[in-house]
Amino acid sequence: MNLSTEKILIEAIKDQRDIFGDLLLENVDVSMEAALRSKSNSVKPAIPEKPAVPVNLFVEDFQKTGSLEELNKQICDCQKCALGKTRTKFVFGVGNPNAGAMLIGEAPGRDEDLQGEPFVGRAGKLLNDILKAIKFERGDVYIANILKCRPPNNRDPLPGEMETCIPYLHKQIDLIKPKVILCLGRVAANGLLGKKLSLGELRESVYDLNGIKVMATYHPAALLRNPNWKRGCWEDVQKFRKLYDDLTAGSQS
Ligand code: URA
Repeated sequence: MNLSTEKILIEAIKDQRDIFGDLLLENVDVSMEAALRSKSNSVKPAIPEKPAVPVNLFVEDFQKTGSLEELNKQICDCQKCALGKTRTKFVFGVGNPNAGAMLIGEAPGRDEDLQGEPFVGRAGKLLNDILKAIKFERGDVYIANILKCRPPNNRDPLPGEMETCIPYLHKQIDLIKPKVILCLGRVAANGLLGKKLSLGELRESVYDLNGIKVMATYHPAALLRNPNWKRGCWEDVQKFRKLYDDLTAGSQS
């Protein structure tokens, strides 16, 4: 099997696991599962899952940080995890600082790493179309990721990286004060909500995060690989738009 076929196969298996959860692999022959795991591990660099120094030694006090601009200045040179060394650009986030709706992805990819802006590659173009379909311009909403730096080879974020980076996202949410958040994909939703669910399970509910309504749908990159999931995404985003309209009725200019 050549490398690109292997990569496509691994992505396809990951997509299925995202939707159906680990149950999907439960009946797989053990030797095959072990082989798959060692393959997917082989693309992961040897970074310890937990930072060598306890995270709470680094906990900053963002209480006095009053704007997104200020926060970006405070954190854009971050070197708390190994991704600080491999990134090209720190990808803070983009959009309306007073947005009622926020979209959260997993981590920057290659294009985002080069440009310093979330969702600017192929998946980003699809995301813009999805937003247009529910009558949002990209600039109406705020878009950010769980991780601010690109994991090498677009591997999944490690738990330690997510734990280290997520306080930045929480502070962004705190400053923006959106009414609704749409998580793009399983990793983003589980990361934000602190859950371990499949995307199928996550899509079934509207969650509450300190008074903010949180929903999940497919990651646009997964939709590019599996266009038959677009219908489910369309249903999710229509529901998301309705929730936004209901919660901002009276406050929209
Ligand atoms: N995928 C993500 O999750 N985030 C981006 O910014 C780009 C691709």
